[in-house]
Amino acid sequence: MVGPAPLDEVIANANKLAQPGKGILASDESTRTVGKRLQSVGLDNTEANRQAFREMLYTTPGIGQYLSGAILFHETLFQSTANGTPFVKVLGEAGILPGIKVDVGLVPIPGTDGETSTLGLDDLTNRSRAYYEQGARFAKWRAVLKIGANLPSSLAIAMNARDLARYASICQQSGLVPIVEPEILIDGDHTLERSAEVAERVFAAVVAALHEHRVCLEGILLKPQMILPGAESPQKASPEEIAAATLRTLRRTIPPAVPGVMFLSGGQSEQEATVNLNTLNSLALQTGGAPWTLSFSFGRALQASPLRIWSGDASKVEEAQEMAVGLARVNAEAVLGKYSGPHPSKLTASLRENFRGWRQGEPR
Ligand code: 13P
Repeated sequence: MVGPAPLDEVIANANKLAQPGKGILASDESTRTVGKRLQSVGLDNTEANRQAFREMLYTTPGIGQYLSGAILFHETLFQSTANGTPFVKVLGEAGILPGIKVDVGLVPIPGTDGETSTLGLDDLTNRSRAYYEQGARFAKWRAVLKIGANLPSSLAIAMNARDLARYASICQQSGLVPIVEPEILIDGDHTLERSAEVAERVFAAVVAALHEHRVCLEGILLKPQMILPGAESPQKASPEEIAAATLRTLRRTIPPAVPGVMFLSGGQSEQEATVNLNTLNSLALQTGGAPWTLSFSFGRALQASPLRIWSGDASKVEEAQEMAVGLARVNAEAVLGKYSGPHPSKLTASLRENFRGWRQGEPR
């Protein structure tokens, strides 16, 4: 009989990813999604452009000081720099663990009001073993839930919680740390309180499913959204209100055994994501601390400005990389509750030109 795989490495890597003062770069957009990002700066969605964009980010000098991991898409995990160094090696040498997005997209749940479940479980055992062989040490699976008058339904919550738990269990058996991502979309006109109420239900269901599937909680990371009012809500919430609602929701639902809560940035500006993360960590420190590292697994909030600066122009790589490391740095500071502005995304090109020290965190 084959016994369970030893989870020591998974637990050690989960703790490495959640180490205080670092976070994760979520650069795992599917080919279609990264195509939209490239198109926004006038670039075609070719493999060469996708490779060049990722090379620009991964070869940023000094970025490993602020990043514990980077999530890659399938294509990217097998790509190399223009001079032939595999991305996995580039990241490893910078002290950044490579991760892999293993879900393969969303499908509607029939009979619901446009709710979805996530595909990718069928061949996950084989794929996750192959990804481990290729150098990946953690994985991501994104489930999506929507807030509406009668949403999310109990069916959508139960299906997505079960699939997240099944994914987590399979990944741990293959040596990968599963990032469990029950994203509750920001779309809608709901209040902060409604967002908190839904998140509490969803997180509780996810944790119950993780228990049922015998997932080792010390060897996972949670990737939720912060608790925010809906994008179309007339209500505006301050960073303090967002931090209080987010911390309360996590304290009510997430066991201390989980080493890290790595937020997505979805729907927030680059600056808002940093300020909200910093306020959350400051509040946690002032109120007895948090049992989990409260960190980031940002996509847009780490990539939007570097992409805009680079826009496919080889002569702009250095400037774009300065922005990339500057954004990583301020978010790493926010994990420690030590961020203070100005925010790199708000510095104009001439300000950045005149003050080269901004990306090293020198006094501003
Ligand atoms: P954003 O930070 O852009 O929301 O992306 C993170 C992510 O990986 C969502 O799945």
